Amino acid sequence: MGNHNILTNLEKIKLLFEQIRGYELIGSRQHPADFNLVRAEYINTRVRFLALLFSVLTPLWIPVDFFILQEEDFVPVMVARLLFSLSLLALWVKATYVFSISHARFRLLVLMVMPALFHLSTQFILGDHLNDEHLASYTFLPFLIIAIHCVFPLTLKEGCLLAFFTIFTLSLDELVQHQMFTLESLNNLWLLLVIMGIAIWAQLSQLHMQLKLFEQATTDALTGLLTRRSFMSLAESELNRAERYNRPLTMALLDLDHFKNVNDTYGHQAGDRVLITFSGLLKDVLRTTDLIGRFGGEEFIIILPETTVEEAEKVIQRVLDSCHQHSVVYENKEISFTVSAGLGEVLVDVQTSIRYVDESLYRAKKEGRDRITIAQGGQILSDKSAVG
Ligand code: GH3
Ligand code: MG
Ligand code: MG
Repeated sequence: MGNHNILTNLEKIKLLFEQIRGYELIGSRQHPADFNLVRAEYINTRVRFLALLFSVLTPLWIPVDFFILQEEDFVPVMVARLLFSLSLLALWVKATYVFSISHARFRLLVLMVMPALFHLSTQFILGDHLNDEHLASYTFLPFLIIAIHCVFPLTLKEGCLLAFFTIFTLSLDELVQHQMFTLESLNNLWLLLVIMGIAIWAQLSQLHMQLKLFEQATTDALTGLLTRRSFMSLAESELNRAERYNRPLTMALLDLDHFKNVNDTYGHQAGDRVLITFSGLLKDVLRTTDLIGRFGGEEFIIILPETTVEEAEKVIQRVLDSCHQHSVVYENKEISFTVSAGLGEVLVDVQTSIRYVDESLYRAKKEGRDRITIAQGGQILSDKSAVG
């Protein structure tokens, strides 16, 4: 009995975790590829902005150094400032765009480790002079560095790793001088960790919001499938990839049969329910790497990467079978539905491929519906490849 309660509670927690999309907040493995690119751009824009900001602000502090630092410290600190400022300037100038999320992560790491190194150098130069109360502001930098972590939308893994590297770099001098475990150091470390915790929380909230907005912008509200527009842009890059590596790629166009009858007989809401159910079947049968889009009202378009037309035919046949096995119950009436499909291996641009696959869908309809037809010859060849 008690065991059972614990189990159901665990399941409830698991469900809640899935609802807030906890897995997507922990790591980026389940993020859509196009989202990763959007996020990479977003992170890089901020990296560049902060790099420019700090590279301008850091030398502005030189006059202040002049008045409050001792003479022998002034020049080395100025050199450190200028070096730091120049390296940040390089970070701003270089790579105005990023090509992957790993690239953006690397640049973010550089942005955070550089000020930590600058801080280390000033600590090293100022040494015992730091005990002078005028120089208290020279010990604040770590807190600023840590607080800045909060402007980035990061996963928990990314946030923790970045925090680890930053705090590790900041603690290097204490580690080297074996002062890490003095009361004062531990106190500082504790404060850094608390601020870091808040920064990570802010990172996760940003990521969560971005994921939500992205999903709303790219998926169809009724079915949760890709919108036509986002499908087209993803299909384009899948096609390029397949072409580059000479991999097979199959496209399928599906259209629910006599769908107008469903609406006319049971009402538009019942029709919507059928669309939702059918979309669920598609998601169940297809792989997560397949692209599924709602092409129009009751038309669906699918790209199956790494799949020959023969393999794709088997997969789509499972979709057709699944439609036979499922029905929608609406106001105590059972509504069954079938679907027709046109298939073709894709070797040309997306638009031409759609035209060919649409023709084979039209044949499937003409030949009696609830069936699959394959584009002539199994492959859609462009004029170019037909000649070559
Ligand atoms: P066929 O087998 O030849 O495809 O016949 P059909 O009736 O499915 O084809 P047709 O293109 O004539 O009708 C499509 C219908 O789909 C018409 C439209 O009312 C309905 N439809 C389109 N979008 C939606 C939607 O979002 N919800 C509902 N309930 N119906 C929709
Ligand atoms: Mg139809
Ligand atoms: Mg139609």
